[in-house]
Amino acid sequence: MEPLGPGAGGAESLLGELAGLVQDVVRTSSWWERRGVDCAILALSFFVLPAGFLCLRSENVLVFGVGIAILGVSHYTLSVKGSHLATHGALTESKLWNKIWLLFFVEVCTGFTSEYATYGHVKMHHGYTNVVGLGDSSTWKLPFLNRYVYMLLAPFLVPIITPLVALDRLRTVEPRAALRTLALIALGLYSQYWLLLNVSGFQSAGSALGCMLLTRSLLAHPYLHVNIFQHIGLPMFSLDKKPLRIHMMSLGVLNLPRMPLLDWAFGHSLISCHVEHHLFPKLSDNMCLKVKPVVSRFLREKQLPYNEDSYLARFQLFLRRYEELLVQAPPITELVGLQ
Ligand SMILES: [Zn+2]
Repeated sequence: MEPLGPGAGGAESLLGELAGLVQDVVRTSSWWERRGVDCAILALSFFVLPAGFLCLRSENVLVFGVGIAILGVSHYTLSVKGSHLATHGALTESKLWNKIWLLFFVEVCTGFTSEYATYGHVKMHHGYTNVVGLGDSSTWKLPFLNRYVYMLLAPFLVPIITPLVALDRLRTVEPRAALRTLALIALGLYSQYWLLLNVSGFQSAGSALGCMLLTRSLLAHPYLHVNIFQHIGLPMFSLDKKPLRIHMMSLGVLNLPRMPLLDWAFGHSLISCHVEHHLFPKLSDNMCLKVKPVVSRFLREKQLPYNEDSYLARFQLFLRRYEELLVQAPPITELVGLQ
């Protein structure tokens, strides 16, 4: 049983009260704060790509390493931060532009299907956060792997598995959308391959493909870890007794501390402001960071949980309790007295 909060009506008005406070912050923020900062990070990540490809021409190990770092970090910024903000429509107010960004970030950069990314992330994960069988992060479980293989080796497979899962999902979308997705995924993969051969001067298909794998798995470890650290192990709910939104998010979501590289590549909404993001998913990364003091103070004042833990502590916890957290079915929490 979890600590009792106010009744259902109270919880609804609590979320309304918090939304009002957050809206006040948004209203007094400039375009640069609301969208500009994040658009600038994404634009910079795109325009620095030529420098990355050119660095790989160098025989100097240091310059070559800088090229790998530029391509790897930019790949994650475009494919994780860009795709995430685009699925939430947080990059622009224009529906048309949002669709274009969604296709660019999710299909061209990530190699995934935009329909399924939006369905799986926005509709299921956000709509049913920690509800068993729906938004419970169980897609990240690979119970046939042991803890060390899962935590340390499986991330290397992320860039290979992503387009394969996309291909599998294409069977469920209409043929026109499937063709478009196939073309855009192929464009993203082939353009990187072509640039490595023709701009970076790679001599063989094997070395170019190896370089693609290296850059596309550069931050795959924190990517996989962050996805499981922020929900699994926290209270889980059943569909028929799922709590109201403010309780669902304050109990079932966890913030990690700020980490400059991951803040940049994944965005604050996936690192230190995940609770804020789940409560207000349409805010950009920069706005999540700006409203964080308001949200954390509010939840603490109302004696609602505000989960925070360090990356290292979560990593150790997942290694120690791997069996319980990532193999067995999660126990369901019932919030007696809340509704
Ligand atoms: Zn999200």
